[in-house]
Amino acid sequence: MMNKIKELEKLSRLLDPKASQREKWNSEVLGYSNTFINNLETSKAYIKSEENGKEIYKLDIEEQAVELTALLDSTTKNIDKVGINPASGGHMGYIPGGGLYPSALGDYMAAVSNRYAGVFYAAPGAVRLENMLIRWMCRLMDYPDNAIGNLTSGGSIANLMALVTAREVHNIKARDFERCVIYLSEQAHHSILKAIRISGLSEAQLRYIPLDENLKLSPVHLENSIIEDKNNGLIPFYINASFGTTNTGTIDPLESIAAIAKEHKLWLHVDAAYGGFFKLVHELDSKFKGIKEADSITLDPHKTLFLPYGTGAILIKDKAHLLKAYHCLADYMQDVIGKEDEISPADISAEQTKHFRGMRVWLPLKLFGLKPFRAALEEKLYLTKYFYEEIQKIEGFEVGPEPELSVAIFRYVPKNEDPDLFNRNLIEAIQNDGRIFLSSTNINDVFWIRIAVVQFRTHLEQINLLLDIIKEHLKSKLR
Ligand SMILES: *Cc1c(COP(=O)(O)O)cnc(C)c1O
Repeated sequence: MMNKIKELEKLSRLLDPKASQREKWNSEVLGYSNTFINNLETSKAYIKSEENGKEIYKLDIEEQAVELTALLDSTTKNIDKVGINPASGGHMGYIPGGGLYPSALGDYMAAVSNRYAGVFYAAPGAVRLENMLIRWMCRLMDYPDNAIGNLTSGGSIANLMALVTAREVHNIKARDFERCVIYLSEQAHHSILKAIRISGLSEAQLRYIPLDENLKLSPVHLENSIIEDKNNGLIPFYINASFGTTNTGTIDPLESIAAIAKEHKLWLHVDAAYGGFFKLVHELDSKFKGIKEADSITLDPHKTLFLPYGTGAILIKDKAHLLKAYHCLADYMQDVIGKEDEISPADISAEQTKHFRGMRVWLPLKLFGLKPFRAALEEKLYLTKYFYEEIQKIEGFEVGPEPELSVAIFRYVPKNEDPDLFNRNLIEAIQNDGRIFLSSTNINDVFWIRIAVVQFRTHLEQINLLLDIIKEHLKSKLR
């Protein structure tokens, strides 16, 4: 047996490479990341390809080891050079993500130390750091001291956590599902519908509250609907309002909605996944009126805090609500429950073992300080405004509502052609060019092109490039 153990040890020690090996790998990965970042200015935002990354299957999992160089080459070819490049300043489709460099270092540090940030007693420093970040976000939203929340993997999970918390706090049982009512608008993010299904509430009544001409949820219709439902013996319990819809960046009238929620004792959730961090721009303060009345708020640091994908946040105004929904006791965790300084993420979320996400959030915020974040967000607002004005100067273009944040919609209305087809072709031309990536949407059955200025590398240069590409396309059509 001793021989066997020693033999196995020799092989298993390969999993713990020596300093020289680590240095070699580090330098190769550093070379890869430097090339990637240094080439961004000339890289496309979108690359269509026939192969579509298929060759990655050649590197399926096998017994033998493969050299890092081969893996990095394949990554570049089959992953980085196909599809949308979220690190590109030319990415203005959907809601672009970020990819701040210090977050990569934070992820690296978190993975090396592998701190277990689920439970306070296991990693008190890590849990303190994550809760400190959540409390900063709570302060940013003017939430009271009693508020807490959780760093999630994204906005969808945050929206799900909010709905589950409300379901538990309002004591909605299976027998009530058919009678409970959820209020939202046609502009709510589709992750809300997913959350409804995942949380078991598919049978709930959904009320799509009409929108005004600026695509804002109408408080009058909301209140009438709640009163009618109450009179019909139903259980109104949840309102989803948006701070910055994905389609148009529209902000629902939160103050009025909050007053209605309070009056009729409904849970108010504000989905601020895209819009929330614009609170850092002092000029926008007044737009946030009423948000602090919400019972829960979704934020998405991997959008408007420019982080790489994988970090969202749910904030819950009353800590007790989150505990009611998620706290469980397991016998094997008995050492853990005590009088602790900090609430443990595992006690207020569905996760137990989790990524130490805080490090990727904290490192860039501390290394840069808040100032450049405020500036970048304000710059994106102005860039969107600038685009909105410039596109209207090109004959034939019409625009949607004045952008409240950094999303705008526009379309070309040709004289003798089907406008939807024309705009589809325009989008395709932009995507084929690839230097800029835009996506489209449908609003009241009208096809619109969207621009979402969220990537931290998007500056005046990229907006002007987009305007040039559009003008060029029109010229080639008219030729
Ligand atoms: C992006 C977005 C979501 C979903 O967030 P993910 O991080 O993609 O899961 C939810 N709501 C709104 C308004 C969004 O913009």
